[in-house]
Amino acid sequence: MKNIKFLDLQKINHRFRKEIDSAISEVHNNGWYLLGQRTELFEKSFSKYCGAKYCISVGNGLDAIELILKGFGIGFGDEVVIPAHTFIATALAVSSTGARPVFVEPDEKTFNIDVNLIEECITEKTKAIIVVHLYGQVVDIDSITKIAKKHNLKVIEDAAQAHGSFYKNDKRTGNLADAAAFSFYPGKNLGALGDGGAVVTNNSELSIKIATLRNYGSEQKYNHKYKGFNSRLDEIQAAVLDIKLRNLDADNKRRMIISKYYRNNMINPHILLPEVSGLENSHTWHLFVVRVKKRENFQSFLLANGIATSVHYPIPIHKQKAYKEFNNHTYPISEKLSKEVCSIPISPVLTDEESEYVVKIVNKWENS
Ligand SMILES: *Cc1c(COP(=O)(O)O)cnc(C)c1O
Repeated sequence: MKNIKFLDLQKINHRFRKEIDSAISEVHNNGWYLLGQRTELFEKSFSKYCGAKYCISVGNGLDAIELILKGFGIGFGDEVVIPAHTFIATALAVSSTGARPVFVEPDEKTFNIDVNLIEECITEKTKAIIVVHLYGQVVDIDSITKIAKKHNLKVIEDAAQAHGSFYKNDKRTGNLADAAAFSFYPGKNLGALGDGGAVVTNNSELSIKIATLRNYGSEQKYNHKYKGFNSRLDEIQAAVLDIKLRNLDADNKRRMIISKYYRNNMINPHILLPEVSGLENSHTWHLFVVRVKKRENFQSFLLANGIATSVHYPIPIHKQKAYKEFNNHTYPISEKLSKEVCSIPISPVLTDEESEYVVKIVNKWENS
């Protein structure tokens, strides 16, 4: 029997072991650990990769979203529209600023925010819309930008799951809205050997403010312009990310090939496969998420056959204890999805043989 991990991070990172070890050695030799040359180099490479002007690296993806909101002066008394079906960090970033998240149901086909439901949620307090390119698939940004322009709102990308995804074969995530937040959590398509994140934007004023905010609100040592944060990427992680970034397109390509193989060959009638709403390169397959009614049974069958799966996400944000003020609200589509979604292994290091085996087992499952 095979043993297929949900995500083999060790194998993913081992491919870069030599280069990473020598980069870490260099940091030792330099004796400079934060906000140095390595960080600057990575920020340059990543903004270039995204096709945007500025990249400000930060401590993690959650901070990246919060820093963008703070950078735009959003806080207490304001409302921010976000998808109801997302990782909790999107909501937490809004709550941390003192603003109130306003949840919008997803489109069942794409799992992304339902663009047709945004406008009815906008009030005079609304300041921004955070879009999440969930599971790696880019949102319909043109329609969202249109709504935002009409109501004078900022659009912020939560691109934590979509490094490198294209919109209309033209622009990449990070270059689609007023600012974008990325996470380099180890399991993301571009992952560090620890925590990391970045803000990417074409707005020079915002970039300067965030670069200041992430470093105690200080532009000049011991001179503090804002009540800032400590949220920095360190030199070692910046070096690791710079090395792994060179391989990101190839890694995403491999994910696309596997997803295509899955979509063409999984033929179990009890499983609903994910679809790509735009061009193939608009989805970088951070996760391969199917829908299945008897999920527990499906997951145990796969596990009994040596295949680990996961659920993103089992409890909607509005049903979490942390958000008890929303517990009696209903978002039926998010609630339904949370019961049916199941993530199947996909990664740049999953072999052909392994993906064939996954398909074989998925097709063998009987809806019992
Ligand atoms: C991972 C993730 C985040 C948070 O990133 P961290 O680096 O873990 O703080 C935010 N939003 C989404 C959609 C994510 O998947």
